[in-house]
Amino acid sequence: MEVDDHMRTGVPNIYASGDVVDKRIPKLTPTAEFESNYIAGQLLGKSDAPIVYPATPNLVLTLPRIAQVGITIDEAKKIRSPKELLKFRSARLTNGLKTVNFLTPDSEFS
Ligand SMILES: Cc1cc2nc3c(=O)[nH]c(=O)nc-3n(C[C@H](O)[C@H](O)[C@H](O)COP(=O)(O)OP(=O)(O)OC[C@H]3O[C@@H](n4cnc5c(N)ncnc54)[C@H](O)[C@@H]3O)c2cc1C
Repeated sequence: MEVDDHMRTGVPNIYASGDVVDKRIPKLTPTAEFESNYIAGQLLGKSDAPIVYPATPNLVLTLPRIAQVGITIDEAKKIRSPKELLKFRSARLTNGLKTVNFLTPDSEFS
């Protein structure tokens, strides 16, 4: 379904979120949840701003659950310009089997 930047469909008072939405954004559970919470905020009058998506985590709903947001340290090393790394922060994810170091956006890289 096509929606505008407030998740409104072409039918008055009908919103859409999740997999049915025709947008070039990953069709994942965190996307559906974020869009649904955004719509709830609109309906409750908490915000009238257009939707702005945060970095979407890749979430694999297996046992154990694994997830990643941002890029790995190894991927970051392949970026030639240090300026591209300035807005990333080192983070760590443990899924029970393995610990992965990676970078998340919107924070300072050290
Ligand atoms: C095999 C598979 C594996 C996936 N693995 C992952 C994963 O590991 N991580 C991840 O983040 N995402 C994963 N996804 C994607 C994720 O499931 C979807 O992005 C997410 O569920 C979308 O949520 P939604 O609420 O839009 O739709 P849905 O979760 O599909 O919910 C739609 C609901 O509407 C109901 N419905 C349909 N038609 C009607 C009707 N006419 N009347 C009433 N109810 C109706 C359905 O029964 C369903 O309950 C996977 C998807 C698939 C298919």
